[in-house]
Amino acid sequence: MLRVYNTITRRKEEFKPITEGRVGMYVCGPTVYGPPHLGHAKSYISFDIIHRYLKFLGYKVKYVQNITDVGHLVGDGDEGEDKISKQARLEMLDPYEIAYKYECEYFKAMDELNVLRPSISPRATGFIMEIIEAVKEIIDRGYGYVTKEGNVYFDVHKYTKYGQLSNRRLDENLSGERIEVATDKHHAEDFALWKAVDEKTLMKWPSPWGIGCPGWHIECSVLSRKFLGERFDIHGGGIDNLFPHHECECAQGDILTGSVPMNYFMHNNLVTVNGKKMGKSLGNSMTLSSLFDEYGAMTVRYFILQFAYRSKVDFNEQGMLLAKKQLEKITEFVNKVGSGEEKAPTGEIKDIYDNCLKAMDDDFNTPVVVAEILKLIKMPLEKLPELRYVINRVLIDIMGLKFDSDIHEQKDAVPEEIKLLALERWQAKQNRDYAKADEKRKELEEKGYLVKDSKEGYEIVRK
Ligand SMILES: [Zn+2]
Repeated sequence: MLRVYNTITRRKEEFKPITEGRVGMYVCGPTVYGPPHLGHAKSYISFDIIHRYLKFLGYKVKYVQNITDVGHLVGDGDEGEDKISKQARLEMLDPYEIAYKYECEYFKAMDELNVLRPSISPRATGFIMEIIEAVKEIIDRGYGYVTKEGNVYFDVHKYTKYGQLSNRRLDENLSGERIEVATDKHHAEDFALWKAVDEKTLMKWPSPWGIGCPGWHIECSVLSRKFLGERFDIHGGGIDNLFPHHECECAQGDILTGSVPMNYFMHNNLVTVNGKKMGKSLGNSMTLSSLFDEYGAMTVRYFILQFAYRSKVDFNEQGMLLAKKQLEKITEFVNKVGSGEEKAPTGEIKDIYDNCLKAMDDDFNTPVVVAEILKLIKMPLEKLPELRYVINRVLIDIMGLKFDSDIHEQKDAVPEEIKLLALERWQAKQNRDYAKADEKRKELEEKGYLVKDSKEGYEIVRK
């Protein structure tokens, strides 16, 4: 029985889908204004594990993950510059170029991490008509108001359940968290559904309230309703978006559909770097491309899986190097087992397999699975078909580890020591010191390598 932690009820609950055999899942996607970083890896590997395990259990999963390419302002509130427009200015590109550039980079990094692609990946800018319709509906129901500046705000004082998800009360002065408060709001806590923008802005659309662009929160309410319906199973996102983003989504969704639209709200925890909060503004956001270069993408994935999705991940070099070593051992074992016939496990191997599934059933407890994998690789290489059964299901399907490409290549690469010997032999030969050249050749052979001379120089091959 699968149990998931639901932020709405603040406890683990049995997972029951709305429609038998199917799951509708919406996860807030990236705001595409910068290179993908470790925080993205944590969030999207977390939901990849959930996606993969639901599929493993036999559910047909419709996984919607939006691309925020407009409306997300610096500081996450209603004031300040649009994150994408700001980056466009810095890079001297237009905002559409920025959004597309970083969307491509995002998917490239996720592919390397072996994160399965969502079923649908809608861009906010592609659904402006639907967004305008939703804003109209909210105004018509009495929860939105238009100001003379052409902004539309959600009236949180009218919606008495505001704060239900994040457990905040309005009298806690939520506006204190913002940099400055727009002057045309009725209350500081109201949030923008539609923002008037300057004529010169490229990302702007006509609306009943004038030229503008959507607020950040409305796109997720609109896109989840469009693709998953008025009520769906799982909504996911980072815990940093619990407030205000997800709180606002619950409020909008409730007004638009008559109830909070998701049955389970799931939140992944964040990444710290050497114990400190990570962030672009803090200058310690680790880009994935630099981490891939240094450790390999699968090490990053494996490192993150050592922690449960609801736990913080503290990034540090020692931890990464340890993860790399463990993953090398796992890879070695997987290679020894090789491919071929599979058989349902028995005995100790079965215990390991059962423990893995039990851990996954318990709110996707990947660190327990990792511990079981480390037990598995100590098993004797006897019941190969049984070992294969577990490797294919647990390591490959559920954990999403990949055992080809980089690690193999590194293993097959000629060691530095051998390269040096071959070079010495070549130099001796060029100097007509054949005795020395021969000596080096013998040394190479003893170490399992042959050198073949050719017109272009020489080639090192394994014996
Ligand atoms: Zn969202």
